[in-house]
Amino acid sequence: QLPLALLLSLLMGYIVWLATANRMSIAWEISYGLSSQEFIVYCQPLINAQTGGCDGIELLLRWHNPRQGWVPPDVFIPMAERQNLIAPLTRFVITEAVSHLPSLPDNPAFHIALNVAASHFHDRAILDDLQHLWWPANPRPQLIVELTERDALPVVDQRVVAHLQKTGVKVAIDDFGTGHSSLSYLKTLSPDVLKIDKIFTASIGTDAINATVTDMVISLAQRLNISVVAEGVETAEQAAYLRERGVDTLQGYYFARPMPLADFPAWLSAHQSD
Ligand code: C2E
Ligand code: CA
Ligand code: CA
Ligand code: CA
Repeated sequence: QLPLALLLSLLMGYIVWLATANRMSIAWEISYGLSSQEFIVYCQPLINAQTGGCDGIELLLRWHNPRQGWVPPDVFIPMAERQNLIAPLTRFVITEAVSHLPSLPDNPAFHIALNVAASHFHDRAILDDLQHLWWPANPRPQLIVELTERDALPVVDQRVVAHLQKTGVKVAIDDFGTGHSSLSYLKTLSPDVLKIDKIFTASIGTDAINATVTDMVISLAQRLNISVVAEGVETAEQAAYLRERGVDTLQGYYFARPMPLADFPAWLSAHQSD
């Protein structure tokens, strides 16, 4: 009896130790990666659906880990959230964006969209970070904070959202229509922008039910005076369909793939002379 119980508890202890060691090493890898320039900020152009001009960019983080190669953000962002490392990553993205501001359009009609995980909101940390890193930059484009929600809903502090809006930051609800990013957000946080998830864009011309949902989300946003961005636009048909329904902004491989922030000025001047 006794040796078996002892064996079992030893085994349990070993499993717990393994799990902790693994978590520790992920946290270490991310922190180390930050200090040794393994992270790179990419950006993807936001296209004005009416004029075809570039109205701004969304900042997208990339991690090139020398041991594992390119690690996709869908993998490392959730890990960083669990390890409380999302704030340092967001600060890195803001700092990189600020250092590139001199080469970006400086008119207030140009938007820079920053992804902020909901877990970065609950201790108001994002407000301090913007205070220190973003607001001193001058001139600066219009900032949009894209709220990404991965876990449970009540994490987002609506007072923080309201405070951001009071200071002139626009707030977007990302991946609208999927997972936890739902209708209730429209009421609790009065967003300025809705981003329609790419699964809805992909449904255009292929999936009648999701395409109907897409139409309804667009008209709902229009009635509430919320600007609509459609992401994942890959074809001319999708772009035409969305434009016809009055979507304000288009984003996707059809217009441009994400590129290093440093490559954007050259892309922009080529796009403007088209
Ligand atoms: P997201 O915010 O919804 O970003 C859009 C994703 O769609 C990006 O993936 C982008 O590369 C991809 N995409 C753009 N156009 C197309 C298209 O036409 N077709 C398809 N199939 N995909 C397209 P990415 O860069 O891999 O990022 C994945 C997610 O990781 C993002 O989804 C966002 O939730 C998160 N993420 C990325 N960077 C950051 C960051 O700096 N902070 C935080 N908190 N999350 C980030
Ligand atoms: Ca986003
Ligand atoms: Ca999205
Ligand atoms: Ca997404």
